[in-house]
Amino acid sequence: MIEPDEVDPATWAVISGRPTSAGSPLNHPITPASNFLPGGDHWYARNEGTDPVDALEAAIAGLEGGPTVVFSSGMAAASAVLDLVGVGGTIALPTDCYHGVTALAEGGAIGGRWSVERIEPTDVASWKDSLKRVDLAWIETPSNPMLDLTDVGAVCEVSERKAVVAVDSTLATPFGSRPLELGADIVMHSATKFIGGHSDLLLGTLSTNRPDLKSRILDSRRLGGGFPGSLEVFLALRGLRTLPLRYERASASAAALAKMLLEHRAVTRVRYPGSGSMVTFELSGGDEAADRLCSTVRLLVHATSLGGVETSLERRSGHGHGSDHLPSGLIRMSVGIEVLADLWHDLDRALSDLD
Ligand SMILES: *Cc1c(COP(=O)(O)O)cnc(C)c1O
Repeated sequence: MIEPDEVDPATWAVISGRPTSAGSPLNHPITPASNFLPGGDHWYARNEGTDPVDALEAAIAGLEGGPTVVFSSGMAAASAVLDLVGVGGTIALPTDCYHGVTALAEGGAIGGRWSVERIEPTDVASWKDSLKRVDLAWIETPSNPMLDLTDVGAVCEVSERKAVVAVDSTLATPFGSRPLELGADIVMHSATKFIGGHSDLLLGTLSTNRPDLKSRILDSRRLGGGFPGSLEVFLALRGLRTLPLRYERASASAAALAKMLLEHRAVTRVRYPGSGSMVTFELSGGDEAADRLCSTVRLLVHATSLGGVETSLERRSGHGHGSDHLPSGLIRMSVGIEVLADLWHDLDRALSDLD
């Protein structure tokens, strides 16, 4: 058995999570089972998992550097993290944060479960201060949709830390950042996005090196019921095999498109964190132009979500869901693996049509 630290992470993504016994198929078959005969490692899937779930967890654990628990969606994983906060506790949340996590945390605050304080993603001093006081510091970097970065390593350099530090690393992917190595307690992914990579599944992951947190997270999945479906687990592990290639290709195209967009007269501002495949930009024509762009692209797709092989555009401002802080005319683009020239041809034509 090869250990994750013996090979490059991109190799680990290919070789990990495979059956080892003689005569097995190379990949774990889909296991549509809720319960098992006695004498093995599994008895009831929601409690002990299944072989393919164990395999996917081992594969991601090797990439993130910490034992991993998979959930039925990113939000199920986020709920399990928020469940760590007791009644009357405090959660620090970024001002730019995935709208579902914002709604979950703020909803809990309205219901009297805990209180929430909001911190600018780039405000390292305030994050450091919060780590001494709050129960959970939820960091999202790059943030969605503004693509601000939080310096996790700098934030975690705090003595007398009280908070559990959880990082939503969905946009970074395990190939852009390894938050556990930077001092985070928990790293979360919506594997719905880059890990799955094909816009055909919902899945979430949590990785942690703290056995106390892992056991509470497992309890939360067991009792909260956010156990993933067997088809999704199969597809996610299959998607993971090509994540390094997809990430490399999409990042190169995103960097090129960010430059080209910056020079286009219809574009006033471009946000690109320097790596990864997300680009957020603003149009001089405001919300109207943004709506028009989304409806006139032919090759790019106008769709929510991100991280698929296809390049997609989404409007994030003027559409509720905690989007009040977003500038008008904002578009978030998730760059896929199509040929760059084709992407720019379509985008340039649709942008030039805005005049
Ligand atoms: C999509 C997403 C989530 C939620 O994940 P689901 O799999 O849709 O439940 C959480 N955080 C970020 C940054 C996301 O993009």
